[in-house]
Amino acid sequence: MATKHKGRAIGIDLGTTYFCVAAWEEQNGRAEIIVNDQGNRTTPSFVAFTDSQRLIGDAAKNQAAANPSNTVFDAKRLIGRKFKDPTIENDLKLWPFKVVSGADDKPMIMVNYKGEEKCLAAEEISSMILTKMKEIAEAYLESSVKNAVITVPAYFNDSQRKATKDAGVIADLNVIRIINEPTAAALAYGLQKRDKCSGKRNVFIFDLGGGTFDVSLVTIEGDNIEVKATAGDTHLGGEDFDNRMVSHLVQEFIRKNKIDITSDPRALRRLRNECEKAKRTLSYANETTIEIDALFQGTDFRFSLTRARFEELNRDLFEKCMEIAQKCLDDAKMQKREIHDVVLVGGSSRIPKVQCLLRNFFEGKDLCKSINPDEAVAYGAAVQAALLSKDYSIVPNLVLVDVTPLSLGTQIRGDLMDVVIPRNTIIPSKRSALYGTAEDYQSNASIMVYEGERTKASDNNLLGMFSLSGLPRVSRGHPINVSFELDFDGILKVSAEDETTGNKNGITITNEKGRLSSAEINRMIEEAASFREEDENFKKMVEAKNALDDYIYGMEKYMKDFYVRSKISPSEKQRIKAALREGKSMIQNEHQTEASVFENYLKKLQNICQPIVNLVIKEAGYSFDGFVLSDYY
Ligand code: ADP
Ligand code: MG
Repeated sequence: MATKHKGRAIGIDLGTTYFCVAAWEEQNGRAEIIVNDQGNRTTPSFVAFTDSQRLIGDAAKNQAAANPSNTVFDAKRLIGRKFKDPTIENDLKLWPFKVVSGADDKPMIMVNYKGEEKCLAAEEISSMILTKMKEIAEAYLESSVKNAVITVPAYFNDSQRKATKDAGVIADLNVIRIINEPTAAALAYGLQKRDKCSGKRNVFIFDLGGGTFDVSLVTIEGDNIEVKATAGDTHLGGEDFDNRMVSHLVQEFIRKNKIDITSDPRALRRLRNECEKAKRTLSYANETTIEIDALFQGTDFRFSLTRARFEELNRDLFEKCMEIAQKCLDDAKMQKREIHDVVLVGGSSRIPKVQCLLRNFFEGKDLCKSINPDEAVAYGAAVQAALLSKDYSIVPNLVLVDVTPLSLGTQIRGDLMDVVIPRNTIIPSKRSALYGTAEDYQSNASIMVYEGERTKASDNNLLGMFSLSGLPRVSRGHPINVSFELDFDGILKVSAEDETTGNKNGITITNEKGRLSSAEINRMIEEAASFREEDENFKKMVEAKNALDDYIYGMEKYMKDFYVRSKISPSEKQRIKAALREGKSMIQNEHQTEASVFENYLKKLQNICQPIVNLVIKEAGYSFDGFVLSDYY
């Protein structure tokens, strides 16, 4: 069994579009979703950079239209991928921020922060979001948090999982487990339902979010939750539906006004925001109007969109979801009628057409909506976190068995894929395969590791390669034992051994997918600390500036008062007024970013204004509306 960790642990749903964090509450016997500083239970996965500060979450999304090229979202679509990945190619055209190809073809996000170009990996952006979650959780739990369970789409491959773990390390989190999103949702569902159900229940989890789509077939029996099969698409979700709407409306705008807005990122962002809202409206209304004043060069935008049109625009995408659902059933060798519950997860599962297709797919079965589709994943992650922590004693005795989404194997002669661990194998798992050398007197054997379902190895995804050297000079067919070890996180280690000589290569895969090196991770950890420091400095500066502003405001009020005016000398009055003026111009100076400058000036001003304060104190009971003197001591 897995080792248990010391300290509080949280569950994190790091979604493409929204993130959500939860913690197990022992006294209530359930997980709690933790609200953010805005009082929201989910937070947009946005990070923005401005001339003066870094913003994360709601604050970043709210300013996206005004600062499109420095507002980064969709980092999850980049994580663990190469720049030339065909799925990224299309996204690039739609993103208002710049992405370039870095070392090893790793996609790098370019932003302007405080007047300087910054080049960031997707892991860094994700780590910033994770840091924000950590802070939200720490504020709520009133204690520091180090351990976390992070969820990933079930269909995430090896490098995407590793990169997500790296993001956790950069955010100073100890990632105690990576679990699959639909599995986490199954945990949340299983926890609620296990008392009520007798015998075995086959549960189909349908998770359609903003960026990814996952389905899992899970069997719940008492405290055991076992994933039977999983399938999905790491690039299918609400954002694709938004994109279809945006493209359609851009064309309509061209047709009607002969104006193409695609060159204007700000206009595109505004249109995208409105499309997303309209999409949500169409989940309960049959028609909606998208209205944007002065969208482009002063021209207003006004279009009606019906639900039917929206469905038409996305028909193939919705149908693709059903095909994937079928694949999952096929893999589990189960019939539709054997499914007891169909559980909806992810914001896009609210779309009526999706629900309708799914109901028809399951031959009219009612869909289960009893769990919150936005929160179930974080909830399940928090349950898993508690199960892995020493600090919680009252945790339901759930046992979770998960599977790997993709087959793993090696390339053998003729570019064939030899599967060592088939997809949907229970994790953790360790399997070996025996291979013979291909040529006489071969001294080196190269082992190429792939993941995927294609027969031809090179059609699959190359995870890495390594070689075993020092083989005895013998005829071909010399045996080499290759072991595949898949851990609880679904992350793979491969090793090879020449059993005749005992020559072993302690091999971890040389990652072909541009994974961060430990030196790079260390550099990013340092950078993350400096980002945090800058954020704190900015906050301190704003607080100091506000304190000075409040003080000046109060003193100006006193200066206008008849009693005060009558008691101080004209020269003193002049001196105070000049000092207040100087303070005001300091506040208005945007280049002034040092907290200490404001703090020191406040002290100086407090000295200069002391005579007024003395006067007010002397006149006991003397107070001005809303201005509380004690604030300034
Ligand atoms: P992720 O986990 O990928 O970030 P979520 O599960 O949080 O995604 O779902 C977010 C997506 O759900 C967004 O694309 C959002 O527009 C969409 N969404 C949320 N509510 C609705 C709704 N009522 N109708 C249609 N789509 C919705
Ligand atoms: Mg999600």
